[in-house]
Amino acid sequence: LMQLAVPLNFIGFIYREIRQGLTDIEQMFDLLDVPAEIADRPDARPLDVADGTIRFDDVRFAYDPERPILKGISFEVPAGKSVAIVGPSGAGKSTISRLLFRFYDVQDGAVTIDGQDVRDVTQTSLRAAIGMVPQDTVLFNDTIAYNIRYGRPDASDEDVHQAAEMAQIADFIDGLPQGYETMVGERGLKLSGGEKQRVAIARTILKAPPILILDEATSALDTATEQEIQASLDLVSRGRTTLVIAHRLSTVIGADEIIVLRDGQIAERGKHADLLAIPDGLYAQMWTRQSEAIEAETRWRKAREED
Ligand code: ADP
Ligand code: MG
Repeated sequence: LMQLAVPLNFIGFIYREIRQGLTDIEQMFDLLDVPAEIADRPDARPLDVADGTIRFDDVRFAYDPERPILKGISFEVPAGKSVAIVGPSGAGKSTISRLLFRFYDVQDGAVTIDGQDVRDVTQTSLRAAIGMVPQDTVLFNDTIAYNIRYGRPDASDEDVHQAAEMAQIADFIDGLPQGYETMVGERGLKLSGGEKQRVAIARTILKAPPILILDEATSALDTATEQEIQASLDLVSRGRTTLVIAHRLSTVIGADEIIVLRDGQIAERGKHADLLAIPDGLYAQMWTRQSEAIEAETRWRKAREED
């Protein structure tokens, strides 16, 4: 019996070691926000984009089964229109864009593009159809030209320059001693948040996808930079089906529909004016708070200029 006890203990020890290892790996994935592997179905077909209508049908989703994040979300972004998702931080806004990209699968309901469930199409074709201007753009350690051309590797220099022009970053690039050949990223020239975002916009202009997701990184930018970026974003989204995750309400005034998300549910929906008209509505409250903040910022700027 003693002879058997030792190996069993040893196996128990190994087992605990492995389990600990797995837990560490799980935690690491959490930290990196790397989703669990999503695989193409054996019979997956390429997405066939007709006009790019997006639909969420009673979508339910949780990263952790104990904590539901989206609790039955339904909306449509008609072809070529733009729908904005607003709401407090942690409400589940970015999660909606991750589900459209199929970084995760829904637990119930469906996400479709032109009637095709995103789970039935190949991920390559899905991601080719969607352009994303993310909250934090990470640039490759390479030249600015490379970073822009990544949107369409066969684009000519002329196309790259034109995209930079539209994204309103061409003047900045022309002012650099090495221009488009300037190295950027961690080991190169450090770009500001606004500059990085404009590189991402130029990249997306080149890619010219039928569907756009804008997860606005404007919280880190001052109002003036944000307004410039807004102008280039408006240009890119013209005529494209666009889902805007908005942090500043000033950017969603013109959206075809605004969805106010709270605690994983749609609390209010409608156009800007409709939402402002809801007495004590969440949107109306957010609008008042943000208007006050913008006025305060403007007053502060003026005061500083007068000094
Ligand atoms: P929003 O964009 O509205 O600020 P998110 O969609 O990013 O919110 O997140 C919604 C909730 O889901 C938050 O509480 C967040 O902490 C949680 N969450 C986001 N990503 C993950 C993840 N990878 N694993 C677990 N929880 C997550
Ligand atoms: Mg977010």
